[in-house]
Amino acid sequence: MAKYCPKCGSSNVDWVLPQTWSKWRCKDCGYIGALIIENGELAEEIRKKWKDKKP
Ligand SMILES: [Zn+2]
Repeated sequence: MAKYCPKCGSSNVDWVLPQTWSKWRCKDCGYIGALIIENGELAEEIRKKWKDKKP
């Protein structure tokens, strides 16, 4: 199942350490944390909001 960054909605997320599954890192916005989105529709909304925030 696809995983999405809760901050920017990117699917470009990976584990910080392969043996530490509870922490995620987003390669697009630099987010690091335990929260990750698995809902594609929610990720789409986050992506839209993230875009609006950017100058
Ligand atoms: Zn992100």
